[in-house]
Amino acid sequence: MARNSVMVDIREDIYHRLFEDYDSPVLLINVENGNIIEANNAAVEFYGYSKEVLVSKSLKEICLFGTSLIKDRHHQSLHRLASNEIKEVEVHNLPIVLEGEVYIFSIVYDLSKHVEKEIKQRDYLTGLLNRKFFLEETETHINYCKTSEEKFGLLLMDINEFKDINDSLGHNIGDKILIEISRRLLELKTDKHLIARLGADDFAILCKLQEDEEILEYAKRAMAKMQMPFLIDNITFHLTPNMGISIYPQDGNNVEDIIRAADIALSKAKEQLGERLCFYSVEMSNELRNKILYPNLLVNAITNNEISICYQPIIDIEKDKKIVGLEALLRWKNPILGDVSPDIFIPLAEKTGQIVSIGYWVFEQVCKQINDWNKKGYTPIPISVNVSVKQLEQNGFSQSIIKLLKDYGIDSGRIELEITESVSSGDIEIIVNNLRKLKFNGFKILMDDFGTGFSSLGQLDLFELDKLKIDKIFIDDIVNVTKRQNLVRSIISMRKSLNLTVVAEGIETKEQFYYLKDLGCDLGQGYYFSKPLSTDAIESFLESQNMIEN
Ligand code: C2E
Ligand code: CA
Ligand code: CA
Repeated sequence: MARNSVMVDIREDIYHRLFEDYDSPVLLINVENGNIIEANNAAVEFYGYSKEVLVSKSLKEICLFGTSLIKDRHHQSLHRLASNEIKEVEVHNLPIVLEGEVYIFSIVYDLSKHVEKEIKQRDYLTGLLNRKFFLEETETHINYCKTSEEKFGLLLMDINEFKDINDSLGHNIGDKILIEISRRLLELKTDKHLIARLGADDFAILCKLQEDEEILEYAKRAMAKMQMPFLIDNITFHLTPNMGISIYPQDGNNVEDIIRAADIALSKAKEQLGERLCFYSVEMSNELRNKILYPNLLVNAITNNEISICYQPIIDIEKDKKIVGLEALLRWKNPILGDVSPDIFIPLAEKTGQIVSIGYWVFEQVCKQINDWNKKGYTPIPISVNVSVKQLEQNGFSQSIIKLLKDYGIDSGRIELEITESVSSGDIEIIVNNLRKLKFNGFKILMDDFGTGFSSLGQLDLFELDKLKIDKIFIDDIVNVTKRQNLVRSIISMRKSLNLTVVAEGIETKEQFYYLKDLGCDLGQGYYFSKPLSTDAIESFLESQNMIEN
């Protein structure tokens, strides 16, 4: 009896010394559910919660990572205090069994005093590496890879809904989501990964894996973790992660380039419908370049004299290839970009609206050219100008062109307008109004690229066309592909009843030419006769064809 009470006294003494009075924080944790059952005074002081609050928490709420390490006797981790400050800690675990259940005494040693430096490397909210340190580490790793010739993947991840959640539900919930994201990322962390929060919901992972497939597999696992529901303050969130991946050294050999490449891949990933995960490719950079660089350089293209017009002859197929017109085609040569194809810059100019001023500039240049050629005595022939649907959608378009020709003293019969089937999907009322006014003033209207769009012949009637230009793709296969032959044949056979002149574009061979001649096609254009030529070259060409009167 006496011995028993002595033992109890000793145990209580040990309990006090080892627990209550111990000068490091000690937590008693239920291994099964991670709930904190007891905490000593040092723990109350260290974490900054009242005892009641501390023992109502689970380990998950204070421990940023390492909860799965609970059974390890010693490990390092990051613990969050009530003040939200994050402390680097070393944890020593002592398992005990009480009434059949397994508990752990976790003795927590505050390492922060020794690791001030490391704390500076951490993101205050999530305990992940911060931006500055992550960039430094990436640079160090690149230097290492330069000699070891190793590869690595750089993953950037963000969350589609994050900004909306943060803005609508407040930063408190936003912060909790970020903390949970970090926790999930840390669950996948091995010594091959550096994980950082670069800012807001931008996460970065340096993945020291050597095979693209391994990196992809890791990325997919991380994405899958983010797609699991987030239960925050009793609200269940379903988040959509986006991820961009770049690979060192192929996508960049310095920190800036490798991150930029991952960032480009990330913005591409966001455009995707299914899995929003993208590896970087050079094409993406070019695409982005198109998006940003081209429109900015195009703004000054006219004033910098970078834009010019070349002319391609249009010939009469029946009358021995006599030149009956010229098509004005834009050219852009930029000091940085070199020659840029109109197939690239015209759609861009249409998107930005620059086509309106560029298009007007073309008309003006053509007017000047006509007057110049008139003076030089060239045989007067019409010049076709390509007109974008965006120009036709401008209310004052027809008036501005009519006035321009008047100012230059040029007859409207000298300019023909090439429109495309995209007019059918434009603002039809304004377009038709413009075209009617132009027709009324003597301009001829041609439907370009015919056969590639969706317009019906009925719709064509609406635009009061004078000519149809059959698209090059039909001419390409005309000698061999029956389906294409039939289309061309039927258009040509209908031209008389529709009162339309038919032009075939992109004629490259003798066979195509004679085939079209046999079908009775009126006019033709293509490399077979001449490529588009600069002003000087077209003058020589016209002279060689006796198109000058002196
Ligand atoms: P488009 O109006 O269909 O012009 C015909 C295109 O076919 C031109 O390309 C011409 O160089 C090319 N071509 C002509 N004959 C042949 C041939 O025999 N073989 C091959 N392979 N190609 C041939 P380009 O000059 O690159 O122009 C591309 C497009 O850019 C034009 O197609 C037109 O839609 C647009 N474009 C050009 N200039 C202007 C402009 O001033 N305004 C507007 N809105 N669009 C323009
Ligand atoms: Ca054209
Ligand atoms: Ca065309």
